[in-house]
Amino acid sequence: MGNPGISKYAKYLLLLMLICSAVYFYLTGERKISLGGSHLRIMNTLFRLNILGYPNENSLPDEMAAELRALDQKLSRFIPASEISEINRNAGRSPVPVSIETFSVIETALMISELTAGAFDITVGSLVDAWRITPLAEGGGEREWEPPAPSTIDQARALTGHGKVILDHERNSVLLPPAGMSLDLGGIAKGYALDIVADRLHSHGVSSFLAELGGNIFAGGRNRKGQPWKIGILHPRRPTDIIAWIEVTDASVSTSGDYENYRTFRGERFNHIIDPRTGMTAKTLVSVTIISPSATLADALSTAAFVLGPEEGLKLIENRPDADGIFIDSDIKITVTSRLQGKLHLK
Ligand code: AMP
Ligand code: MG
Repeated sequence: MGNPGISKYAKYLLLLMLICSAVYFYLTGERKISLGGSHLRIMNTLFRLNILGYPNENSLPDEMAAELRALDQKLSRFIPASEISEINRNAGRSPVPVSIETFSVIETALMISELTAGAFDITVGSLVDAWRITPLAEGGGEREWEPPAPSTIDQARALTGHGKVILDHERNSVLLPPAGMSLDLGGIAKGYALDIVADRLHSHGVSSFLAELGGNIFAGGRNRKGQPWKIGILHPRRPTDIIAWIEVTDASVSTSGDYENYRTFRGERFNHIIDPRTGMTAKTLVSVTIISPSATLADALSTAAFVLGPEEGLKLIENRPDADGIFIDSDIKITVTSRLQGKLHLK
């Protein structure tokens, strides 16, 4: 989230995103609606919206763009004036009263930590900072990158723990008791934003649409032919290709992959998803896609299942009535939850 700076890598990232988007819109067979250009750059990624059957195409995307910008202004830890930055600055000092919206995203995230035995944990901010695996477009410097020292990881890990966050429901305030602790909503905020977009579209009477934000998609209703939307899953080792596709209606599809943001050091790949239990980057899977009617849940659970790995992750999703999952391991072996058996189309 946020946009601390543009490096020479920005154009490559943008190109990759545009190729992915082209594949995605080719698969959907639908036209895209312009948002002040061909896309809107927000939350450190691209937002695209494709609406069917709405007469006034221009004002609605503008409204969405304004809404997403306002959300980023509250939830980004990279925007100094955001509520999340304010909470982080006051760690170890004082509770920070926040908007109902920010409070409820934090509350939901903490609830998902409970559901996932801490695999999903928004208090990973200090570990995220220690690993410095930002999108290449932001920091560049891949050649100079090296993993943090074990002592740095230990120090950062001491500043994490979802159970330490203190919420005051009367004042809507948030306190991070240890100084140096910090919240990072990067694993859930895009999903939350997509739920907001879907709500707004529904309240405008728009039921058929595709909204995409980073690796998260919300597929509302059906396509022009009255069929479910076809959503492609990117190949984790050839991310400009699609490895498989599924049909969805009124659901979100969120992917956490080790090919999104990563660094390599001495031939080893380190990605941006951290196992809060060890402080190390999660390694057992290369891609997890979650399908759920809630984009917030799909986003958080894809991050959590990525951390939990093939067995525990699959068990977590299998036991939920509101989510299905597609797991890809480093041998590019694909496993799906039982309700998806026979419904994943390989390319
Ligand atoms: P996603 O791409 O949705 O899986 O989210 C990854 C982002 O979430 C990272 O860039 C971090 O900002 C944050 N993150 C990393 N590890 C975790 C974790 N275990 N729980 C929650 N958020 C995390
Ligand atoms: Mg996520």
